[in-house]
Amino acid sequence: MAENKKTPKYSFCPLCGTRLVKRKDFDQTRRHLCPGCGWVYYPHPFLSATVLICKGDKVLLVKRNQTPKKGLWQLPGGFVEFGEMPQETAVREVKEETGLKIKIEKLAHLEMIDDDPRGIILGFVYQAKIKKGKLGKDKEISAVDFFSLEKLPKIAFKIHHRLLAKKGGKIDG
Ligand SMILES: [Zn+2]
Repeated sequence: MAENKKTPKYSFCPLCGTRLVKRKDFDQTRRHLCPGCGWVYYPHPFLSATVLICKGDKVLLVKRNQTPKKGLWQLPGGFVEFGEMPQETAVREVKEETGLKIKIEKLAHLEMIDDDPRGIILGFVYQAKIKKGKLGKDKEISAVDFFSLEKLPKIAFKIHHRLLAKKGGKIDG
């Protein structure tokens, strides 16, 4: 990804602290480079993993307890940690947020998300089923529940909105 108005701006090299200069890279793209150590800034999206877990005609949602979009609902999930595979993130986040152990069935969807104030995110969406565990919640979350697709609460993110709408729900969040 080349730099655009949504990519974070760096003024100084994160490795050696030298002020960055803007030059043409070897591929002719203008990039910020460090004249001190040679570091090149290649902007990249964050990665997230989100999980669709259905029980009958209901879908599992969690209510956000932190900014952004505090108080709105979303599919369980979160950012991929460095060194983690997105499917591992999916399993970890669902366990942390809801107490449930899941089995990933398939990668259901992949999308570049541009409506999150934290930055551009490449979102992996998995379909999974519950292996075991009792529905609970942690402090990242203020509530967790299954919802009928016809009677959904207010959804935090456009991508979740669309995924749920595609599954047949009518959403007005
Ligand atoms: Zn440097």
